[in-house]
Amino acid sequence: MLSNRIQTLSESLTIAITTLAQQLKREGKDVIGFSAGEPDFDTPEVIKKAAVEAIEKGYTKYTPVDGIPELKEAICAKLARDNGLHYTTDQVIASNGAKQSLFNLFQATIDPGDEVIIPAPYWVTYPELVKYSGGKPVTLPTDDTTAFKITPEQLRAAITPKTKMLILTTPSNPTGSVYSKSELEALADVLEGTDILVASDEMYEKLVYHGTAFTATASINDHMFERTITINGLSKSVAMTGWRFGYCASAHRDLIKAMKKLQSQSTSNVNSITQHAAIKGLDGSADADIERMRQAFEARCDEAVELFNAIEGLSVVKPEGAFYFFVNHKAVELDSMAFAKKMLEEVGVAVVPGAGFGLDGYFRFSFATDIETIRKGIARIADFTARYR
Ligand code: PMP
Ligand code: GLU
Repeated sequence: MLSNRIQTLSESLTIAITTLAQQLKREGKDVIGFSAGEPDFDTPEVIKKAAVEAIEKGYTKYTPVDGIPELKEAICAKLARDNGLHYTTDQVIASNGAKQSLFNLFQATIDPGDEVIIPAPYWVTYPELVKYSGGKPVTLPTDDTTAFKITPEQLRAAITPKTKMLILTTPSNPTGSVYSKSELEALADVLEGTDILVASDEMYEKLVYHGTAFTATASINDHMFERTITINGLSKSVAMTGWRFGYCASAHRDLIKAMKKLQSQSTSNVNSITQHAAIKGLDGSADADIERMRQAFEARCDEAVELFNAIEGLSVVKPEGAFYFFVNHKAVELDSMAFAKKMLEEVGVAVVPGAGFGLDGYFRFSFATDIETIRKGIARIADFTARYR
């Protein structure tokens, strides 16, 4: 009954583990979850108010597929203000989460056999969606010795006549690495003269720590502006995961139009209430809340990184952004799937195995949880690690 296409697609591992941890909790098991890529904070009040107002004003009908004009204007204004990127409203599209922007982007650009370069460790969804579009993921391995960033030499060596796209995630899920302006410039030099597209996933843009500067990939120079498709949203930095809003910007109007066409035949517009609320997440109204949450993440990061690095057998590179530690557990004689499974069974701690992100010997730990829970969880991880070292 099932298509070959759907049978080769894997379920999102991050969602699967988080769902399992929640189910175990409901069954009364003492489980602490660090697997969810989701802020523990509530959505800022100013955004919730805008949603209530939208309901009261009766904004409950279908909207244009790509978003109401005010929302698209807010997206353009945000990209201009924060990133120095100047788009018109027919160069942006609002989607049901950044995930849908990515799905539509791959469907709209990738033909069978096209190669898509994906630095590993990668967010679990990219290779699956690329394969679903008929493309071939080409992974570029990195590790903690280069802070999980690809080098220009690596990129140059991976390019073939079939290379269609490079995916960059900055700040990165699962490692928290952030590409500096000069690192992006060096990658841009390699791409100059090619027609390779860059999908730049900037979901964690606002969550950077310790003075790290965020640079948007499309802002590097004119040819990067032309080839880069920026993916962003409010799920992470504005704590709006359940609202389902993301967006995409590209210099190519025909690409945005193609994505809109696909969306018109699948989900249509983003929820109309969400669209009105999202404007407040984009226009600066929630900036103080965003900064409050960022500071809380930074403080947790600082404390938790020390706790992890004090555990014999584990080590972690201090992340520059996002809210994950990608913890090296190679000193423990277990692969990452076994490590995560046993840790959940034996000490009730849920993390995501590195293998799911394309790099074994690591696990991803989300610090988007209160500090008390983080302390308790890391103490359990220390006990578990001591048993298997
Ligand atoms: N990109 C990255 C790197 C992510 O971690 C996520 C996480 N959920 C997404 C995109 C998708 O976000 P959403 O669909 O919730 O906007
Ligand atoms: N992206 C988040 C994560 O990495 C949420 C789950 C998902 O969408 O895969 O955990």
